[in-house]
Amino acid sequence: MNFTSIKKFFLIAFAAFVAVPVSAQDLLAKQAPVDRKMKAVDSMVLKRIIEQEEKYNPSADLYEDWNNVYAHNETTLPDSFRIDLRGFHMPTDSRVLTSNFGARWGRQHKGLDIKVYIGDTIRAAFSGKIRIVKYEPRGYGKYVVIRHHNGLETIYGHMSKHLVVENQEVKAGDPIGLGGNTGRSTGSHLHFETRLCGVALNPALMFDFRNQDVVGDFYYFKRNKYASESAQATRLRGVGGISTSDSDQDDELAIASPARTSNVHFHKVKKGDTLQAIARKHHTTVAKLCQLNHIGKTIRLKPGQILKYN
Ligand SMILES: [Zn+2]
Repeated sequence: MNFTSIKKFFLIAFAAFVAVPVSAQDLLAKQAPVDRKMKAVDSMVLKRIIEQEEKYNPSADLYEDWNNVYAHNETTLPDSFRIDLRGFHMPTDSRVLTSNFGARWGRQHKGLDIKVYIGDTIRAAFSGKIRIVKYEPRGYGKYVVIRHHNGLETIYGHMSKHLVVENQEVKAGDPIGLGGNTGRSTGSHLHFETRLCGVALNPALMFDFRNQDVVGDFYYFKRNKYASESAQATRLRGVGGISTSDSDQDDELAIASPARTSNVHFHKVKKGDTLQAIARKHHTTVAKLCQLNHIGKTIRLKPGQILKYN
């Protein structure tokens, strides 16, 4: 082959190469690694989203357990805690309060009473998961407890109808029930509670029903400031005088609390915790901790372990 024919041969070969359409098989073969890469990217994105969600889900750190039994399972309340109120939805569009949180008839009223009529839609205040759907004829009547991602739990009492089931995920604003007058109630109304670690906090610190709004983007709970802030919130956003109609007597419910152990507090063991450190933190002694938890002084603590401390 001389130079010209060699050139011609290569030209023809090149033309043939370019002209032959890429077979479907080739395309699939080329696509496969791309698909694999996309899948890897997808799962990375998903992993990041899950991580982000977990990061913004303080309730996962606050609560040790999930049960559908006890509305008030009091655990250790942190000294301070930031509650994210963004993404709220008012539980009812009613602006009329009928009873304040706090001392009432010599007892404690653990929620706010808001005037609603039978059949009015009651909605989830934040996104979260329905923990309890129950009927308690001597107390809350038909009620729902929701655990929210922001760490709060909300309770809705005296409803005429449930619209959700236990363990159901809800978004803020989803209907969860209808207004009513069930249980220990003297007129149709919504008994609304906000709880942190099972401890009732004054809803007026967070919700302003008259203005159908939350008080701010966040509520900073601080144990040492709570009492004075709660009193101020009632003065600013509560009802003046104490109403005796369209409210309730649902303050303490035997059935809603685990065997009246509401004064028992628990410590969740963290990495590096020692019995001495736990005793010091909760102003008790190692001997008392051992006695309460039926353990020996030399026990090896495991992170996540729950200890009673009073
Ligand atoms: Zn009430």
